[in-house]
Amino acid sequence: MRTEIASLGEFGLISHLTDHIQVSNPSTIKGIGDDAAVLEYKEKEVLITTDLLLERIHFDLTYVALKLLGYKAAISGFSDIYAMNGQPKQLTVSIGVSKRFSVEDLEEFYMGIEYACERYGVDIVGGDTSSSLTGLTISITCIGEADKDKIVYRNQAKNTDLICVSGDLGSAYMGLQLLEREKAIHQDEKEFTPDFAGKEYLLERQLRPEARKDIIDSLSKNNILPSSMIDISDGLASELLHICKQSNVGCVIYEERIPIDYQTAMMAEQFNMNLTTVALNGGDDYELLFTVPLALHEKISQIEGIHLIGHIVDAEEGTHLVTRDQTQIPLTAQGWNPVSMEEEEGEEEKE
Ligand code: ADP
Ligand code: MG
Repeated sequence: MRTEIASLGEFGLISHLTDHIQVSNPSTIKGIGDDAAVLEYKEKEVLITTDLLLERIHFDLTYVALKLLGYKAAISGFSDIYAMNGQPKQLTVSIGVSKRFSVEDLEEFYMGIEYACERYGVDIVGGDTSSSLTGLTISITCIGEADKDKIVYRNQAKNTDLICVSGDLGSAYMGLQLLEREKAIHQDEKEFTPDFAGKEYLLERQLRPEARKDIIDSLSKNNILPSSMIDISDGLASELLHICKQSNVGCVIYEERIPIDYQTAMMAEQFNMNLTTVALNGGDDYELLFTVPLALHEKISQIEGIHLIGHIVDAEEGTHLVTRDQTQIPLTAQGWNPVSMEEEEGEEEKE
């Protein structure tokens, strides 16, 4: 079934998509329906983050279902709030849509957003809707809260701190490579139905990522306050360099400690890509990268899903990766072997 957006009009569309949306957080005083949402954050600090997603720059609807796109768009906002050691509470969704899209398409998109919000305890409290001449434009703003003395910035990493990372790296990037390859192979077919058996994890990481609320919660439960933190959306190397630059420190990480999943390794081999380069530079991981004081070594080692990959050093010592054969290589945002990342062109403009 296809219902044209024009048949509902702007107001009809907004109420069709949002009438059933309910709010549940005590900090949400007024959600959708007035000129502005009203929030009340008593003694907490308020965190705000925005993402702009443009069709064909940030997503490709050939292989991304709108429901998954909605889910991922919301998750990426939550991830930014967790990276400040906060908890996301509200979300606004703004969309510019061309005639190519039907009311049913937008229903799918909202289903994905609502499902993510439900799972993470976030209220949808507003947005804006406009027609557009081409494609789909999405802007998501996420609002969260944190205790003032618990907010974790990028600029407080100290010499001797341990460098930690959650989950595994590079899998979402390999998922994207896989989708791009299948798209090229199947481009003449009407339906995009490639066989992804045995590669489900990579696809899941690319198409349906999760934000690491669980890591934030277990750090807090264990009374561990990171000295600095960032979420990994542009690759480990680039994010670690952000922390080092803003904290005015250097770092050493060890190639053999970078967590990589089996399917990622298999896929990198098939694609003839350097696995470490993939893990250092692949985007969309949504894992957390953080530093903790050395004194917390034992405590942090015991938390499941967290990997110690190196430590912070003085700024003068620079930023390095120690390879498996014990060679020190300068860490750069493009990785230490940029040649094999050439295929990433276009990705680089993504922010
Ligand atoms: P205004 O003219 O003040 O921009 P709108 O008519 O655009 O108001 O929006 C009416 C209400 O619906 C507001 O509460 C707004 O936040 C909400 N809203 C509009 N578009 C969306 C959307 N795409 N998703 C969620 N809420 C929306
Ligand atoms: Mg409006």
